[in-house]
Amino acid sequence: MKIPILMYHQIDQPPKRGTALRGLIVAPSSFAWQMRLLRLMGYQGLSMRDLEPYLQGEKQGKVVGLTFDDGYQNNLDNALPILLKNGFTATCYAVSSMIGGTNLWDKGKVAEKPLMTLENWRTWRDAGMDIGSHTRTHADLTQSDPKAALNEIKESKHELQFALDYEVRHFCYPYGRFNECHAAMVQESGYVTATTTHRGRVIAGNNSHVKLNRIMIARATNLFLFYLKVATKYEDRYI
Ligand SMILES: [Zn+2]
Repeated sequence: MKIPILMYHQIDQPPKRGTALRGLIVAPSSFAWQMRLLRLMGYQGLSMRDLEPYLQGEKQGKVVGLTFDDGYQNNLDNALPILLKNGFTATCYAVSSMIGGTNLWDKGKVAEKPLMTLENWRTWRDAGMDIGSHTRTHADLTQSDPKAALNEIKESKHELQFALDYEVRHFCYPYGRFNECHAAMVQESGYVTATTTHRGRVIAGNNSHVKLNRIMIARATNLFLFYLKVATKYEDRYI
């Protein structure tokens, strides 16, 4: 079984034209149509936590993983109501030392946007949504020494679990950058999955899931392209 795991960042109104990485900000109306289409096609949108039995091959069904990187407040404001309306769950990956802050790691490259506060994360959690880790500081692991990388991977899990009283089982590599050592660290730290920015759908089965492909949904992804990405081999050709 092939499972698409969708990767989103922000769900918000578009910033000014020419703004860097504007393409990663999906309009709330587009997101609403995408979720509606999934539902009409008979797919269930699931968080990484809810996707676990499908990834492990224990359950079969038309499922799509829904993930949001970085933990923007607009995920709570704009995506959560749409997820709930469709009966879907999703995982949002938090940068554990930047809760209540802004996307400082992008400073000068992307407009500064508020990240969820602790209170926001509790609302997200209590709505049945999943919380994953995106390291402590949004570090590029390939530019960190092994000790620092392990700290980013392991301590973020502990910090989030402590702050939110929630078991953090899923990880996402910042910038999609990692090597084999980092994948091993993720496994050793007790995560069940880790998502990357490699394109393609995921093959379910009883193997390791610390290098999962994803499907990027961008501002320019129209509904037809969205359909192709989810339901056909369109993304698999990149594997
Ligand atoms: Zn990120």
